[in-house]
Amino acid sequence: MPPSGAASEADVLVIGGGLHGSSSAFHMARRGANVVVLEADYVGRHSSGVNAGGVRTLGRPVPEIPLALMSREIWHALHDTIGDDGGFVPSGQLKIAETEAELDECRARVALLESHGFTHEKLIDRATLLELEPALAPHVTGGIWVERDGYALPFRTTASFRLAAQRLGARFFEGTPVGRIEQRGTRWFAQTPRGLFSAEKLVITAGAWAGQLAEQVGERVPVHPEGLMLMVTHRVAPFCRATLGATGRPLSFKQFDNGTVVIGGKLIGIADLDGRHGEVDFARLVRSANTVVDLFPHLRHLGVNRAWAGVEAFTDDSLPVISASRRASNLVYSFGYCGSGFQLGPGCGKLVSELVLDGEPSLPLEAFAIDRFDLTHAASTRVVSAVAH
Ligand SMILES: Cc1cc2nc3c(=O)[nH]c(=O)nc-3n(C[C@H](O)[C@H](O)[C@H](O)COP(=O)(O)OP(=O)(O)OC[C@H]3O[C@@H](n4cnc5c(N)ncnc54)[C@H](O)[C@@H]3O)c2cc1C
Repeated sequence: MPPSGAASEADVLVIGGGLHGSSSAFHMARRGANVVVLEADYVGRHSSGVNAGGVRTLGRPVPEIPLALMSREIWHALHDTIGDDGGFVPSGQLKIAETEAELDECRARVALLESHGFTHEKLIDRATLLELEPALAPHVTGGIWVERDGYALPFRTTASFRLAAQRLGARFFEGTPVGRIEQRGTRWFAQTPRGLFSAEKLVITAGAWAGQLAEQVGERVPVHPEGLMLMVTHRVAPFCRATLGATGRPLSFKQFDNGTVVIGGKLIGIADLDGRHGEVDFARLVRSANTVVDLFPHLRHLGVNRAWAGVEAFTDDSLPVISASRRASNLVYSFGYCGSGFQLGPGCGKLVSELVLDGEPSLPLEAFAIDRFDLTHAASTRVVSAVAH
């Protein structure tokens, strides 16, 4: 079926209006591409609009670090780049050790990064930690400090990328779920309730739903959804400046200027992919609240105001897929950010624009190739058959 009109045609179709879709659209539109973004719900409805806002290079898997450092530079220049700073506060991020063994872990981590040439994570002792955050409980032993990390407002950031892309001519269609995708000749077609959209190039940034679209092209990715939870407390007098995580237990913690405290840290609730929503598991939230009270005993009577869960995509090796398709031409994927994709959004959108428009990214992306899971499978099959012989 031919496309039904000019509004349905573009140079590039982007499926998914989260931060990664909006940032990719912005970076491509900036380079003159005619971009259409198709979003099933509304822009920022899922992970990108409801996350903890952590802008964190700290604690990244080594292959992600160059991407995170590149993205961080965009964060620091966000206002000049997209006309809004997304509420970015360069508060610094701390990873707290609570025992000597955890401090040894931090020491080993910093040494590992230094052996790869990365010096952004600094080991700090107990005195420095307490100087940075005097309200912490006295049992802490030290940790890791990254000064140029921080936090931002997720929905505002995603909306700002969308608006910046729109100012450059990108068109966003909300309430437009894509069903079938198909490449015919030199064009991609995306079927939606609004009709058929078509373009020469296709970008899939559909978060937890991206695996279903990749499967249509015959590319199976071990990706599954999780409902990640957050809670927000009542307001309390300022006591904490940095964004905090812990070494021995899951935690992500920050106090906003308005006094509320946002508490998360990959807390797993319930993900309903078909229903397109996440649900809170209150019993699990309690564990996290206990961690916070251990670290900041003065918060033990602070009430929780609200809690929610967002649906996020997790891969089997905890790395995203940022890759050209290995099966079809003019198709690029960017999804599976495993609970840490907010910080990467500004930078990965740029890398996607390079993959789409130049065919070559400015940073190596082999670790994020879509076929790495087949290769792992093939390699383990080879090992098994070698052992058998
Ligand atoms: C509670 C929580 C806390 C988090 N905290 C942090 C943090 O502190 N720091 C950090 O870096 N990261 C954090 N993350 C992770 C981060 O939010 C995500 O990695 C990131 O937002 C993923 O962005 P995305 O654009 O890939 O996906 P999404 O935001 O999920 O966007 C994908 C979009 O695609 C749309 N879509 C799907 N299928 C279709 C279709 N067929 N047709 C049209 N549209 C479709 C969806 O409706 C959705 O809007 C957190 C996530 C959660 C849930």
